[in-house]
Amino acid sequence: MLTSHTSRLLILLQRLPLLPPFAGACILFSGSSVVAHTISPAFAVTLDMQGIRYASHQAANPQNAVQEIKLKQQLILQNDGQFRSVSESLWPGNIRFQFLTTGNKAGVAEVDLLQWRQGIEIDRDNATAARKEYADLLFLSPALLLEHTNMRMSSKLPGAENKKYEQINFNDAAGRPASMIIERSSGQPLSAKTASSIYEYADYSTAQNFKQPRQITVKNGDKLILQWSITAQVPEHLDAHTFDLPAGYVEKQVKGAFRATMIAPGTYRVDGSESGYHTSFSVGIHSVAIYDAPISTAEAAKVRALIEQTAPGRKLAYVVLSHTHRDHIAGTPSYMQEDVQILTGKDGKLAVERQLGQEVASKVQEVSAPRDLDLGGCSIRIYPMASSHASDMLVTYDAANQIVFQGDLFYLPEVGPIPPVFDVGLELDSLIKQHQLQVQQLVGVHGRSGTLTDFQKALELRMTAKPGEEKN
Ligand SMILES: [Zn+2]
Repeated sequence: MLTSHTSRLLILLQRLPLLPPFAGACILFSGSSVVAHTISPAFAVTLDMQGIRYASHQAANPQNAVQEIKLKQQLILQNDGQFRSVSESLWPGNIRFQFLTTGNKAGVAEVDLLQWRQGIEIDRDNATAARKEYADLLFLSPALLLEHTNMRMSSKLPGAENKKYEQINFNDAAGRPASMIIERSSGQPLSAKTASSIYEYADYSTAQNFKQPRQITVKNGDKLILQWSITAQVPEHLDAHTFDLPAGYVEKQVKGAFRATMIAPGTYRVDGSESGYHTSFSVGIHSVAIYDAPISTAEAAKVRALIEQTAPGRKLAYVVLSHTHRDHIAGTPSYMQEDVQILTGKDGKLAVERQLGQEVASKVQEVSAPRDLDLGGCSIRIYPMASSHASDMLVTYDAANQIVFQGDLFYLPEVGPIPPVFDVGLELDSLIKQHQLQVQQLVGVHGRSGTLTDFQKALELRMTAKPGEEKN
């Protein structure tokens, strides 16, 4: 049943500028009156957002469960379902992400503006994903959100609450159930609830007749996820190319079958995984050492089967975790067996226990000084390193093949030019120099492997501006 919502809600909506009549008209019901409301499909709001994300299992120190990540986002939401966002985040080790996402009713595309993680490949998704993304973004602008809700129904709040607030239940722009609490006196939405998130709206301002909360807090249950400070504008006119992708990007390349690629005698990198992450492993006469366990137990189970097929009869003796961030260790339970040793840096056991439980943690040995692993006719050295990305960092060195295995210290994309290193690249460089390691290949968990020359080029290209500071 379509039912009423308050006249104050209408006031909120009526403050939106009236643009060409009946262009995208929608009918609002209020008691017995029916109000035709028109917002042009081309109506857009831009949100300039600064915030903090409380990220779980990505801390610089394994003692901490949560890491505060600085965020910036410039968002354009157009009434016709088009959107564009440039979002930036700064992670421990001054690792900076900057992605541009643009979408419409037909689909969504994302590119990496810094071209290091995703290189020059365009990540596309279909109309359903685009609709969900647009629907999610609308929760950042409650006035526009209300414009896109259907099947609204008012439900009575208990007792005295009902005098002050009204709850409306609706389906969001992707058809998913959601609800909103509106303050009766002001007509302003105070909060909204979806299946996964609670949005709390505060400190409303009016820009060109458009109401926008300047503060938005996003929670998952009681858990604080995000805090945003927002400045809204209603542009009179958007450039025709606003939603275009920038030049210089290519369609995503085919990654090929799931396979173990030999990169040196007895040494393999897993390619073609669903997540795009690379596990690597060294095979000796009697044992195997595995480098990292991304990104889920399901994926690691497939990797384990591939290793057992590639190195039959060998014992899976060691799982070396480059650091205990969630995406690098989530597959570890798939390698559990009686005398497997899970190696982490200092305090890594804490982070493993917190994320994967006591049983997995009971197999952890922390490495606090260089340690050799004997795989039979093949020796691998593990170096602990108090990195600014993760203080429990381990770097693995295969002296016979002159290969460094590392996670998150040096990145090359699968497709694209060599990007500059972040601070953590300098840390890897000093470790290599300190131990006078002869290096031919650097193998990462993300992206393609590199040569020493590639690494040196990335060091030279290092951004001189401190990441994240130049645009403040
Ligand atoms: Zn990490």
